[in-house]
Amino acid sequence: MNADLHCHSTVSDGWLDPEAVVRRAAANGVELLALTDHDEIGGLEQASRVAAELGVRFVDGVEISTSFCGETIHIVGLGFDRTHPVLIAGLRQVRSGRDARALRISAALEMVGIHDALAGARQFARNPALVSRAHFARHLVAAGIMPDVRTVFDHYLVRGKPGFVEHEWASIEEATGWICAAGGIAVIAHPARYRLSSANLALLFDRFIAAGGEGVEVVSGAHSEDEMRRFATIARQRGLLASRASDFHGEQESPVDLGCCNPLPSDLTPVWSRLC
Ligand code: AMP
Ligand code: MN
Ligand code: MN
Ligand code: MN
Repeated sequence: MNADLHCHSTVSDGWLDPEAVVRRAAANGVELLALTDHDEIGGLEQASRVAAELGVRFVDGVEISTSFCGETIHIVGLGFDRTHPVLIAGLRQVRSGRDARALRISAALEMVGIHDALAGARQFARNPALVSRAHFARHLVAAGIMPDVRTVFDHYLVRGKPGFVEHEWASIEEATGWICAAGGIAVIAHPARYRLSSANLALLFDRFIAAGGEGVEVVSGAHSEDEMRRFATIARQRGLLASRASDFHGEQESPVDLGCCNPLPSDLTPVWSRLC
C-alpha cells in the first residue's frame, strides 16, 4: 500500500493548493492520502473531492501544534469527523495565537535590521489566518537576505536565534483529546525532530498514550534510516500504530516527494489498518 499520511497545502505552509497536492500524489502512485495542514482543516473538502475523482483513497487530516517541555511537538490527527465542534473550536483556539506571534517574530527581526518582515511573510501566506515561520523564511530568501529556507531557519528562526520567539501552543492532552473526541486517531509527527532528553521523550509518549494517542510516524520524510529504526523499536515497545509520511511542502523545500518514503517495517501495524 502506498500510503502518505502527512503533507501540506496552501491552506497552511505548502506551496500547492489542495487540488494540486492530490493530483501530484495520484501521479506519484499514492493510494491512500491524508492532507494534514497545520492547525487547519479548510483544505479537506476540496482535497477529498479531487481524490474521489482520481480514485485515490483520502483520509481527513490535520497537524496540531502543541507545547511540551519547552519544545513544539506536532500531533497529527487522522480520520476524524471534520464537522466535530470540539475539534473545530480547538483548532480555532490554536490558530488564534498565530497573528500575535507573527507580529513578535517581525518585531524581533526588526531588531536585527530586517524591516517589515511580516508584510513580506504575508505575501507568501495564501491563508491569512495561518502565517508560519516557513512564510518568513521564504520572504527572507526572496529578499536576498539568505540563500535558502534551511539557512534562514538555522540563522534566524530556531531557538537562540534573533527571530525566534517563545509561543504557547495547545497541550499534548488538548490536541490528542480534540482528535479523539472527533473520532480520529492521534499520531506523534516526526518524533526524531524534537530536542528532548530521553526522559522527556519517554514522558511525551506516556502523556500522549494516556490522553488516547495511538500512533507514531516511524517512516517520515524528516527521518534518517537510523531514526526510522529507533522509532520502529519504540512503536513495538509501546504497542503503537505506525504511520508513513512524507511531510511534503513543495518540491523546492522537501527532501521526499509525495508517496516516495521508504516502506514501513513489515512487522509493525500500519495506522491505515484502522483507517480503511
Ligand atoms: P511554525 O508552525 O510557524 O512554527 O512553522 C513550522 C514550519 O516551519 C514547519 O512545519 C516547517 O514547514 C518549517 N520548518 C521548521 N523548521 C525548519 C527547518 N529547520 N528548515 C526548513 N523548514 C523548517
Ligand atoms: Mn510546515
Ligand atoms: Mn511538523
Ligand atoms: Mn508537517
